Amino acid sequence: MTPPPPPDPPPATWVPASGDRRRHPAPAHLVFFHGPMDCGKSTLALQVDHNQSRQGRSGLLLTQGDRSAAPMITSRIGMQRPAHEIDAGTDLRLVVRERWARGIRVDYLIADEAQFLTAGQVDQLAELVDESHVDVYAFGLTTDFRARLFPGTQRLLELADDVQRIQVEVLCWCGLPGLLNARVVDGAIVREGRTVLVADTAADTAVAGRKDDGSGAGGALTVRYQVLCRGHYVRGQLGPTATGPGQLALS
Ligand SMILES: [Zn+2]
Repeated sequence: MTPPPPPDPPPATWVPASGDRRRHPAPAHLVFFHGPMDCGKSTLALQVDHNQSRQGRSGLLLTQGDRSAAPMITSRIGMQRPAHEIDAGTDLRLVVRERWARGIRVDYLIADEAQFLTAGQVDQLAELVDESHVDVYAFGLTTDFRARLFPGTQRLLELADDVQRIQVEVLCWCGLPGLLNARVVDGAIVREGRTVLVADTAADTAVAGRKDDGSGAGGALTVRYQVLCRGHYVRGQLGPTATGPGQLALS
């Protein structure tokens, strides 16, 4: 018996020439990193940006509702980079195309606070990956204070090529891994209300509203967030260090 002839070798032009990404697009990827508060998302976002830019690639950083006033990606360990501030009405495809029209390269996007993206904006990111071959690295919280997925997080989990739970371990006060972000209003855990209420856990407090209990007292509400293990989230136990000025002990 005669063995079948070997397959033809690929033609010499098979390997795309460098810089010829339009005719032979290199596959781009949508990667989503997620975790609870304080797990180092922004730090990792800036590290990914650093690694990419060192390879000569040009990136665009996106953020919204960052804890600093100016559009920045800031990390709690002190690193920061200017970022383009977006909101729920921003078409992310237009943000990129507008830069291309000005001759500015955008090889990759870093999207911090990605939990705040709308589902439609995540679809736009996927389109940028598939149609324009822009790599997208998104970083966001997993769940809100009700222990439900944020809308942007849900859509990213549905669409991302690669999903990674950030491995920096955040501990509950009891020492177990912290998984859930509790909203604490005047020293008590709450599980209902607006999804987005930005407070800085480093500063620990934010005046986020006025009491409207019909009493006319009108005192300022003190809101903060605390990462808890699942058991202590369910039981609403904030631990021995949860009290602050003007708060009652939980004993
Ligand atoms: Zn715990």
